[in-house]
Amino acid sequence: MINLPGASPVLNPADFTGLEDAVKDAPRPRKRLTELMIKTALEKPPKKPVETVSPREWGLKFQRSPQEVLPTADGTRARGVRMALTCLEGSGDSAKAIPTGDMEEMECGLVVSSIGYRSLPLDPAVPFDTQRGIIPNSSGRVEGVPGLYCSGWVKRGPTGVIITTMNDSFDTAQSVLEDLQGGVLDVSTSREGFGAMESILRSRGIRPVSFSDWEKIDAAEVARGKAAGKPREKIVDPQEMLRLIGH
Ligand SMILES: Cc1cc2nc3c(=O)[nH]c(=O)nc-3n(C[C@H](O)[C@H](O)[C@H](O)COP(=O)(O)OP(=O)(O)OC[C@H]3O[C@@H](n4cnc5c(N)ncnc54)[C@H](O)[C@@H]3O)c2cc1C
Repeated sequence: MINLPGASPVLNPADFTGLEDAVKDAPRPRKRLTELMIKTALEKPPKKPVETVSPREWGLKFQRSPQEVLPTADGTRARGVRMALTCLEGSGDSAKAIPTGDMEEMECGLVVSSIGYRSLPLDPAVPFDTQRGIIPNSSGRVEGVPGLYCSGWVKRGPTGVIITTMNDSFDTAQSVLEDLQGGVLDVSTSREGFGAMESILRSRGIRPVSFSDWEKIDAAEVARGKAAGKPREKIVDPQEMLRLIGH
């Protein structure tokens, strides 16, 4: 975005002043992204000749919570968005955006809403923070339920991509290992493990897709890709995937 041809970023330096210290210990991806924005917001851009000035600008507005899309007088189009200004209360991951009571209207001709995502409670026995849409936890250990762990978006909220989720599951796995080694988890009796789940599924007529089933789908995708000179050809129809594994 910073180097988008024909567009220049407009970031408010006040939003980024003094942030360097705050991101020093942030996870690497967050740190790199924030440092790039700090650099863009605080460094004076080199003076460009008039003919190369970007015809378009983009910017980021922080601490605003959209309240209402404002229509044009004839009610056929959007003319703006009313936003509540917010300020942060608390710090780190537990910081919350609280409305200050002030409002702002931003003119626009088009509104694109982001999809948004919220995890749902699983079971009454599993605590759930409906405000944040997460299972309250500490490094994946579900609060108040020893021996239960969580990972992914239900653990930390809908942020990041697959690799963030993967790293996050390593963190939870580390907690499980520590609890195993520390004797927190009772492993004295042997349990059936996945076998128990498999028999419940079968009793309900559900045929699960196993890892070796997935390997067959993977091999078929890779073979189709090879024929087309690329790493894989994704099979996008679930029914076709199931046919491949004989379901
Ligand atoms: C529209 C969109 C596009 C994205 N594009 C990308 C991308 O291009 N690249 C990228 O890296 N990341 C992308 N992401 C982010 C990525 O999808 C997430 O980081 C990742 O899927 C989070 O993993 P998760 O295991 O927490 O949740 P999920 O992947 O959502 O897994 C949760 C699973 O739990 C199941 N489940 C829910 N309730 C129950 C229940 N009661 N019982 C049993 N099972 C249940 C759900 O069916 C689901 O399979 C995208 C996300 C969205 C929403």
